[in-house]
Amino acid sequence: MSYTLPALPYNDNALDPVISSNTMSFHYGKHHQGYVNKYNKAIEGTPFADMPLEDAIKKTAADASQKGIFNNAAQIYNHTFYWHSMTPQGGGEPTGKIADLIKDTWGDYASFKTEFAQKAGTLFGSGWTWLVQDGSKLAITQTQNADTPITTSQKPLITLDVWEHAYYLDYQNKRPDYINAFLDKLINWEFANKNL
Ligand code: MN
Repeated sequence: MSYTLPALPYNDNALDPVISSNTMSFHYGKHHQGYVNKYNKAIEGTPFADMPLEDAIKKTAADASQKGIFNNAAQIYNHTFYWHSMTPQGGGEPTGKIADLIKDTWGDYASFKTEFAQKAGTLFGSGWTWLVQDGSKLAITQTQNADTPITTSQKPLITLDVWEHAYYLDYQNKRPDYINAFLDKLINWEFANKNL
């Protein structure tokens, strides 16, 4: 059984001009699809072929000999989570339960935003910045390459892709502009509330 690339939760031009349809065509259409293609090739004829994606990620995370399966599976999961972390009319201050938890952890939204932007901006190389729930608290974490919080006790709420392919066509080297645009115009707080 082969894995199918999940559909985007919006049209590929819905986030334009913050994230252009040109970026979407490469990022979703080539990179995300590419991970799916490589994953399907790697799991063919193995026990992973009939395993849910999240189980395959957890089973291969600590096994260096399964790095190829882990990297592609985790990148499939992380990208799907990223598309849902954004919405065309998103961004700005949260509402609902996530707003209360952010206030509990950071005191105010501005302090949350400063830490998220700092962590996303200083992640060296390729990786992901996450808002996670860790027990009763929230935290902002960084993962390198394909690494994902679902192999830990942390529950992901929101993610931002900070691999260069996520922003280079629209922002070139200006990663901070991409991060601020994500926070101010795209972040999907409804998705975070759903994940709590
Ligand atoms: Mn990506």
